[in-house]
Amino acid sequence: MGRKHVNDVGTRKADLPQKICVVCGRSFAWRRKWARDWDQVKFCSDRCRISGLRGPASTGPAR
Ligand SMILES: [Zn+2]
Repeated sequence: MGRKHVNDVGTRKADLPQKICVVCGRSFAWRRKWARDWDQVKFCSDRCRISGLRGPASTGPAR
């Protein structure tokens, strides 16, 4: 019966979930302010969020 009981449930930095910002392409870690809507978080910062909401067309290939 080798079931290891993990007692360390603390939140370590390394254990935080990470995502890739869809705007700048950099990975960012979970933050407390995103606890509620982490599933919907796509941007690493407000700056990227704004530029992302503006529309990918602005950064995409111009016609
Ligand atoms: Zn970003």
